[in-house]
Parts: sequence; structure tokens; C-alpha cells
Amino acid sequence: MSLQDITARIATAEQKGGRAQGTVKLIAVSKVQPDERVRAVLEQGHRIFGENKVQEAAGKWPDFREAFDGIDLHLIGPLQTNKARQAMGLFNAIHSVDRPKLAKILARLAQEEGHCPDLFIQINTGEEPQKAGVLPVQADDFIAECRSLDLPLSGLMCIPPIDEEPSLHFALLAKIAARNGLAGLSMGMSSDFERAIALGATHVRVGSAIFGERVPG
Ligand SMILES: *Cc1c(COP(=O)(O)O)cnc(C)c1O
Repeated sequence: MSLQDITARIATAEQKGGRAQGTVKLIAVSKVQPDERVRAVLEQGHRIFGENKVQEAAGKWPDFREAFDGIDLHLIGPLQTNKARQAMGLFNAIHSVDRPKLAKILARLAQEEGHCPDLFIQINTGEEPQKAGVLPVQADDFIAECRSLDLPLSGLMCIPPIDEEPSLHFALLAKIAARNGLAGLSMGMSSDFERAIALGATHVRVGSAIFGERVPG
């Protein structure tokens, strides 16, 4: 696979789903990938990237930003409150807002700094104990709480359980977003982004299908 293959598959999925061309954003998930692979994708003109750790992103993206204009960096992994300020300086969007304590800190920092990244609330659609995210039954209350804090909510994000049909989870996420008037849906990865687009994804997070398998360690 390559960036070109993935963008072509996204275009086909948009067309099949009756979605306007170019409306689904491709977040190229570059975590753990060697710099030369990331640079190759930047050189092909791609600008939207995802990282799952603040520390790792802080180590590599400032240099890439010096070399390439217009980089749009998204945090897709869990955020500890003690890294919130650093994350706000580094990322254009955060997809992992998942608890009141974090929401309150982001709201306070947004006030202090006068800006805030676009925020997505992570929903634990599979209700998995080891996974981050707000439970579906708590979603409406948490969304209301974030709104009362004046946080700039773009939408919702989910990571379906690996052993279940993801479409059920994508449909649940879309339903929660619709009843709360949220437009953004961050869902779909290398193995299922076409199914996510069919169910309304606005942001797909694709790593290994673009960059190749992640090198462990
Ligand atoms: C790693 C990761 C992805 C990308 O996974 P691939 O299967 O390599 O496409 C997407 N979303 C999140 C939250 C991730 O951590």
C-alpha cells in the first residue's frame, strides 16, 4: 500500500457512500515509524498526521515543522493531565478527551493560552475495561459538561474492540454524535476505514497501510 492507494480507496468509499469528494480527512498515523518514511509522505504533499504519544511527537515534529509548511498534527492516544499544556502547544487536534478532570484542565489552559486545539471526545463503544473513553451511557452528560466549559468540540472518536465487527461501533458512535449535534466522526483504521466512511467517518486514522508495519520496540 502507499499514500496514493489509500487516498484512491478513500475517494472510492466517498463516492459509494454518496459523500462529497475530499470531505474525509486522512490522518496518517506516523507513531513509531522511522523518520525517513514520514519524510517521504510529507514530500508527497500530505500534511495531516497522527501520533499517540506526546513525548514521541515532541521529539520529531518540531523539526518536520521547520522543514514543511502547514502540518496539521493530531493526538490520537491517551493524554495525561500533566502533559496537557505541552500537548496544547504541539497538536492542532486532540482525539482523546475522555474524562472530566482532563476537560477541566484543557478549559483552564485554553483560557490562559487564548487558543485550544479542536477536540474529539473518545467513546469506549465496546465498554472494554482496559480501554480509555467515556461509556456510551455517560456520553451525553460528558458532552454537555464539555460544552459548559466552552471547549471547542469537533466530534467523537472510537477504537472498536479488535475481535468485533467494527461497523456496529461506528454506527453507535454516529448515533451518539447525531443526537448531540456533533459533526465530526474520527473512526476507521487500516483494516476498516472504508466501512467507517460508509457510516459517516469524517476523519480516518490510517497507519500501517500507508507506512508499512510498525517496527517493534
Ligand atoms: C495506531 C493507531 C491507529 C492506526 O492503526 P493502523 O492499524 O496502523 O492503521 C489508529 N488509531 C489509533 C488510536 C492508533 O493508536
